[in-house]
Amino acid sequence: MERRSVKGVAYFTSEGFKDSARYALNAFATRIGGVSGAPFNTLDFGAVSENGLKDRADNLLRLGFALGVEPLECALVKQVHGDTIVKFDPVDAKTPDFLKRFKAMEADAIVTATRGVAVGVLTADCLPVFLYDPVTGAVAAVHAGWRGTFLSIVKKTVAFMVKEYGARPVDLRAALGPCIGLCCYAVSGDFYEKFLTSFGNSINDFFLFSSAASGQASAQVSGNGTSYDKSKVESGSLKKGGGVAFDLQAANRAQLIEAGVQAKQIDNVHECTACNPHHFFSYRRDVTAPSSETDVAQCAAEHRETGRMLSMVMAGARVERTEP
Ligand SMILES: [Zn+2]
Repeated sequence: MERRSVKGVAYFTSEGFKDSARYALNAFATRIGGVSGAPFNTLDFGAVSENGLKDRADNLLRLGFALGVEPLECALVKQVHGDTIVKFDPVDAKTPDFLKRFKAMEADAIVTATRGVAVGVLTADCLPVFLYDPVTGAVAAVHAGWRGTFLSIVKKTVAFMVKEYGARPVDLRAALGPCIGLCCYAVSGDFYEKFLTSFGNSINDFFLFSSAASGQASAQVSGNGTSYDKSKVESGSLKKGGGVAFDLQAANRAQLIEAGVQAKQIDNVHECTACNPHHFFSYRRDVTAPSSETDVAQCAAEHRETGRMLSMVMAGARVERTEP
């Protein structure tokens, strides 16, 4: 994964989505490089107010400019934390009206194999995932929060690409974007029980248990491909009350491998949205996250809000060759 800053717009992109014949342009945008004012500063794509929509359109232009796609259009849907996957392969995909109608659909993953068409998801803590099949050129953008993860949405999206496009899981490239990390994602005992009941003990790999008495995080983080700083875990939210933390990235990575995607073809941003206020919007950090009842009241009084980051991937653009 590479972090780039082009024309003031910062984003992450997976180099794994490039091969000799094709390239799936992809970007996990940060919050840096847009025009939106606080608390949506600055590269926000979630705003719905009249002014917000204007800023959002400017932000899309800026991202497109940075990516060399002008104007950038990106199919989005109404995300509902479910497991519905929709296909966006219309002949008239490029007409704005179609995009508008498509946008009202409720779903959490979009796939397309139409060359030059971009699909995207909006997040602020949830995990954005891209899939790319270099053989057919098909791509997917997936929104995986804990509910989507519980519903195995990334596994279902792999199956969908197999069914709709004849993709082979072994060929697929995947990229996991920035999301709330194990360091900041404290969850309840009930949350853990819910996953344990459905998935069995294998789920223990994706939870970290800390002891309130000692303040020490137990060494439950295993070799699952994540690289969170353990000192951050120990000094973070878990230490305050003891408890359980969930590793959203690791759980989804495991689901991709179960679905047949090769581990070596899974790329990962390895950044926590909640830890990095300069780079990322974080719903939990900016909107919820009260640690006491006084904070709850304060949050309510402040009507706290935050922006949404856009993650987008485009089907099958040709690789630009530069002759030596
Ligand atoms: Zn964190």
